Amino acid sequence: MTRPLQFFQYQNGILSSDGVSLEAIAEQIGTPVYIYSASGFIDPLKELQEGMRDLNHLICFALKSNSNLSILRMLAKEGAGMDLVSGGELFRAAQAGVQSDKIVFSGVGKTADEMKQGLLYEGTGIYSFNVESLPELRQLNDVAISLGKRAPVALRFNPDVDAKTHPYISTGLKRNKFGITRSEVLSVVRSLDQLRGIHLKGLSIHIGSQLLSLAPLDDAFSKLSDLVHELDHHQDRPLEFADLGGGIGITYQNEKAPLIQSYCKLIKKHFGKRAKNSPQFKLLIEPGRTLSGNAGVLVSKVIYRKERRNKDFLVIDAAMNDLIRPALYESFHEIVPIEKRLVVSKSSPKKKWVKTNIVGPVCESSDCFASDRPFSSQIGPGDLVAILSAGAYGFSMSSTYNSRPRPAEVLIQEGKFSTIRTRETWEDLVRGE
Ligand SMILES: *Cc1c(COP(=O)(O)O)cnc(C)c1O
Repeated sequence: MTRPLQFFQYQNGILSSDGVSLEAIAEQIGTPVYIYSASGFIDPLKELQEGMRDLNHLICFALKSNSNLSILRMLAKEGAGMDLVSGGELFRAAQAGVQSDKIVFSGVGKTADEMKQGLLYEGTGIYSFNVESLPELRQLNDVAISLGKRAPVALRFNPDVDAKTHPYISTGLKRNKFGITRSEVLSVVRSLDQLRGIHLKGLSIHIGSQLLSLAPLDDAFSKLSDLVHELDHHQDRPLEFADLGGGIGITYQNEKAPLIQSYCKLIKKHFGKRAKNSPQFKLLIEPGRTLSGNAGVLVSKVIYRKERRNKDFLVIDAAMNDLIRPALYESFHEIVPIEKRLVVSKSSPKKKWVKTNIVGPVCESSDCFASDRPFSSQIGPGDLVAILSAGAYGFSMSSTYNSRPRPAEVLIQEGKFSTIRTRETWEDLVRGE
C-alpha cells in the first residue's frame, strides 16, 4: 500500500518528485499549492489491474477523492472507469471523456435531473445506477420510462459490518444512511415486475473508507457473495456484476495498511469461482484514496513563528479551507520541511527541535494541521513545508472559507510539471454575487 514519501524524495537536499524540485514549483506558482505525482496515481492503479488480471473486472476511480480533469483524463487513458456521486461529477467525467460503459453512479440522494443526465450520457447512458433505497428505485423507474429507457441498476446492499474506521467515514452499518438490508433487497427483487423501467444488473457494497484491516471486507464480501447466489435463483437472468466498493486504507503515519495483492486475493477467495463459472460476470471496485491519497502533497509557506513557553506555533499560509481532513476527522498528516537540512526527529539533539503546532490563519481553533510535532527551531518565515498524503479529499473538499481563494494544482509527469488548475482569484471569489 502507498506511503507518504513513496512518490516524493529529497534530491540534492530539496523535496522533489520525478526529478522536479517542489521548491522551484512553489517559487513559480506560489503557495499554498497542491502538487501531484502522476506515478502516484498510476502505480497503484497498475498494481490493482495486475491483481485483478484473471478476473473480468472494471476499476472505477472514486472521483470525489480527487476530481481534477487532468487527473481524470490521465486515469481514463490508463483504462480506469469512474464512480461518481453527483451530476457535477458526471459533468466532469464527460469533460474528461470517460466512456459511458465505465461509469457507475452512487449516492443516497440522486435527483430526477441527475438520473436523466445519467440515462442520457453519451446517448446510451451509464453502466449502472447504484441505488440506495426503494423510493429512489421508484423515481429512477419513472424517469427511465418517461425517456423510453430501462435503467441499469445495482442495489446497494448494506451488509451491517463494522468497518472499524472513523465513524464519519463508516458506511456499512445498519444505522448508517447507506444501502438497503438483505430482506429489503429480496423484497425489491420480488416487485421488479412492476418496475418496467428498471433492469437489475448487479449488487454493490461500500462499507467505509480508510479501512486498515481486510477482516470487515472479508465479512462483507461473504455476505454479498451469498446474496448474489441467492438472487441468481430468484431471477430468470443471473446478475451481471458485483460492485465491491472502495475504502482500502493507505499509510498516513505508520499504520499498516492492507496490501493491494492481499485485497485482490480476498476478492478471488469470494468471487473467483463465480467469475470462472460465468465469464460474463464482472467485478467492479471503486478505489479512491488508494489511487490518490499518497499521490499529492500540499506545499505551504511559513508566515510566522509564534513562540510560547512549552511549544511554538508555526503559522503557515495553508489553512483548513484548503485541507479540511485534520479539522473534520482529526486525521494525521505527516509534515516535512522542503529543505532536507531542516528535517529533525525526536532523536535529534534537544536544542535542534521544539514541540510545534502547525496552524493556518483561519479564525477557528480547529484550523490546526498538526500538534506537538518535533520541528526544527531553525524553520521560520519564508521556509516551505509539505503536508503529505494530501492527494485524496484534499482539494476536492476545499472551500473558500474566510474568503481565501482556492490553491493552484500542479501535476508532475515524466520529469516536467504543469499547472492543472490555476489559483483562484479574488474575482473568482465574488463571481455570481
Ligand atoms: C467515497 C466512496 C468510494 C471511495 O472511497 P475511498 O475510501 O476513497 O476508496 C467508493 N465508493 C463509494 C460508493 C463511495 O462513496
